[in-house]
Amino acid sequence: MNLHITHDIHTHNVFSACCSDRAASTKAYLEKEAALGMTVFGLSNHLWDERVPGASYWYKNQTILKAEEAKNAFRDAPAGLSVLFGAETEYYACKDILGMSPEGASHFDYLLIPHSHLHMRNEVMADFPEILEARAAVRKKLAETFPDFPEKNLDAMAATLKEADLLKIFPDLAPDIKAYTNAANVDTFRSLLANPTLEVLAKQLPVSIAHSFSPCGVPHAMKNDYLRAISDDDARECYEKAATMGIYIELNVGAITEVSFDFSDNRLIELYRIAKDAGCRFTFGTDSHSVDGLALISHADGIAAVLGLTKDDIAPFMQCAVC
Ligand SMILES: [Zn+2]
Ligand SMILES: [Zn+2]
Repeated sequence: MNLHITHDIHTHNVFSACCSDRAASTKAYLEKEAALGMTVFGLSNHLWDERVPGASYWYKNQTILKAEEAKNAFRDAPAGLSVLFGAETEYYACKDILGMSPEGASHFDYLLIPHSHLHMRNEVMADFPEILEARAAVRKKLAETFPDFPEKNLDAMAATLKEADLLKIFPDLAPDIKAYTNAANVDTFRSLLANPTLEVLAKQLPVSIAHSFSPCGVPHAMKNDYLRAISDDDARECYEKAATMGIYIELNVGAITEVSFDFSDNRLIELYRIAKDAGCRFTFGTDSHSVDGLALISHADGIAAVLGLTKDDIAPFMQCAVC
């Protein structure tokens, strides 16, 4: 019998800097989830624990203290809807820093931890060599043109040029972006699983890897093509380790449907089948950044069906929200 998924524990509202729906209050989310017939709602705004040094400018104001303001509306949750306070924190693979301490994690019911925010260059994924080369050439030219400028200003000016701009200025460089992205996609997953803080957190509270292997920053029309180059063996190795550590794998409805609504031609679905075979258990989330986006959960049952999930394949703390 097919499962009916009634939880969504990956959601962002106005407390996340990337949420552009100004109507996305906690109260509006609770009402929408009740209207959709959900039984468990988890709020998981982006955040970086203020106890952990190294937050980028983007994360600096997305702290636990700020995120907790969103909890004030939890007391108004409609009857029949359980509410969990979670977070989507961050893993900076370039520096092997997890943006959540065990003390910070004590504020939450569960954590979502991504490894594939690959668009966060030099935090999650390093600049590729051709970009370093291009930036160095720009830096040299700036130094020749402005010999009186302080070194730090020249560095800052060279750093501001975006990757796409540099590739237009130096078209002959032609890096194999797909190969670099896929290598980073696997390496960041491996290094997250080896991070000592993750091991501690996984014993402390439910932890689910958010949108594993979904390469953020890659245009959606190219994602299936990129993902086909991720090997089954690499995926199996990562998922077997996650299963051994008791870490759950998220079935991110937003990420999966971004690759393709046709689940028979969707490499993420194939990768998550490997996760299932490796013994992983799953959580569901839409990754919605708007009130309307919560309705995407309607595709969760189809994902569960195509993967052949049973209740035992769901993370124990979410089995109450599956029927
Ligand atoms: Zn994410
Ligand atoms: Zn998210």
